Amino acid sequence: IKEKCWIKQYPQQISATLDYPDISIAQLLINAVNDFPNQDAIAFMGKRLTYQELLEQVYCFANALKRLGINKGDRVAIMLPNCPQSVIAYYATLMIGGIVVHTNPLYMENELEHQLNDADAKAIICLDLVFNKVQNIREKTQLSHIIVTGIADVLPFPKKWLYKLKLRKDGIKVTIPEEIGYYSMKQLISQEEPIPVEIVYHSKDDVALLQYTGGTTGLSKGAMLTHQNLISNTYQTTAWLYKAKRGEEKVLGVLPFFHVYGLTTLMHFAVHIAATMVLVPRFDAKMILKEIHKHRPTYFPGAPTMYIGLINHSEISKYDLSSIQACISGSAPLPIEVQDKFEKLSGGTLIEGYGLTEASPITHANLVYDRVKSGTIGLPLPDTECRIVHPETGDILGVGEIGELQVRGPQVMKGYWKRPEETNATLVDGWLNTGDIAKMDEDGYFYILDRKKDVIIAGGFNIYPREVEEVLFEHPAIQEAVVIGVPHEYRGETVKAYIVLKKGFQLTEKEIENYCRQKLASYKVPRIVEFRQELPKSNIGKVLRRVLKEEENNKSN
Ligand code: AMP
Repeated sequence: IKEKCWIKQYPQQISATLDYPDISIAQLLINAVNDFPNQDAIAFMGKRLTYQELLEQVYCFANALKRLGINKGDRVAIMLPNCPQSVIAYYATLMIGGIVVHTNPLYMENELEHQLNDADAKAIICLDLVFNKVQNIREKTQLSHIIVTGIADVLPFPKKWLYKLKLRKDGIKVTIPEEIGYYSMKQLISQEEPIPVEIVYHSKDDVALLQYTGGTTGLSKGAMLTHQNLISNTYQTTAWLYKAKRGEEKVLGVLPFFHVYGLTTLMHFAVHIAATMVLVPRFDAKMILKEIHKHRPTYFPGAPTMYIGLINHSEISKYDLSSIQACISGSAPLPIEVQDKFEKLSGGTLIEGYGLTEASPITHANLVYDRVKSGTIGLPLPDTECRIVHPETGDILGVGEIGELQVRGPQVMKGYWKRPEETNATLVDGWLNTGDIAKMDEDGYFYILDRKKDVIIAGGFNIYPREVEEVLFEHPAIQEAVVIGVPHEYRGETVKAYIVLKKGFQLTEKEIENYCRQKLASYKVPRIVEFRQELPKSNIGKVLRRVLKEEENNKSN
């Protein structure tokens, strides 16, 4: 492992070490505009924006944010699905030196409140459809500015009116108070001139993004990703996808930008090579097939559940997927049958990669254009050192030996926001403990065998058992609860709760589900509940999640 034997597997087009410019990640947008001003940057539900037009909107919004008093280092939350506004809000915040805090629009109020308070967010840019959630918790946060935008704001006629009509039909009405502190993003942009703002950027240590994650301990905390981290991972990804031609590609944008996987493989990569981002606000298999057929994207980063959803769609043969050249699948293991089937149907390659939020996120990938080793996460990216260590002793292990994967490289985070202890436990001498159990073969390919941490990944979303358990524990009838992920055909994993009721109480599976729905985003709600008299425990009384997992595995074998 020390000899970095994987470098011998690199094709000659990929260099084992790269040069990373000391610039803001926002500079890549300006570079794209300088070289390809008239290239489409965004295609979204019939709306198109060239790189030049995108930059003008970014300048207008950046000037508006400055006028609101957002300064270098201020945290600005973005709670949007993939749409032109999420790109504009992101780059505008970064240009003025703000720190982006990405927030999932599906969050419930308590989740949102935790994140906004932990980050001390000064402003939020949110979708009109989630405005009420923000409004309800506003008093409990430090928010000074709430900026609202809607999908209809960017749609061309007649789509704009059809969309508004649909909202009205569904009984959805959003009223933004006419008070100081509330703004329409559209109005803010329209009041400004697209005067260039000078990018506020001091050093490569400047944090660009607080990306919330459970990390290895399960508590949601902000991974501090610097401009240098993001630049590095963008350059590493671009080096890996060396056949992509600047100014000529289209990237299908279905992975959410609010997860750093979507941000890097989609937005940063696309902007770096001045590609068109074909944005889709959510995963819907039919919609994706239509978009591929219509826009002919060449790159499609995704999660296994997306490819599973597409290959199982009854009408897939009606659509032309032949434009796709390469897809990188990450976030969970990619089943080999899915890889084979998708490649046959599209004609492009589908390869597995690996990463984690703390590494901006990609650290490994299979080669995109040749020599794929299915069932592995591939080779480390350029400048990414790896080692497998014994989970208890920390001893460095050799080829074929199983232990915890540690990585070190320019994409590894600066640390966790305001959490020095957890940072010290996760980052030692630049080595990041991934919390994943892995091994390396003699060719330098890595295999992920299990998650040391217990994060459940359902449909590409991370669920931290502890968070769900805490909600369950709050129920007056519940004595003990433990949550695990169980295999699910479509979502990869789904949440199962084991519950011990207090004496004299009765609850049904449905009641628990309904209770959780009020407190958790729907993807975190346990879909399966099993009532038990007691839970398996270790001799010091710790619930043995592992035993429950083994029981489940035995059932499915
Ligand atoms: P996140 O921080 O949300 O990006 O989640 C990172 C975690 O996802 C990793 O620590 C792994 O446990 C898991 N993961 C990512 N890619 C893969 C993969 N290809 N195979 C198995 N697990 C993966």
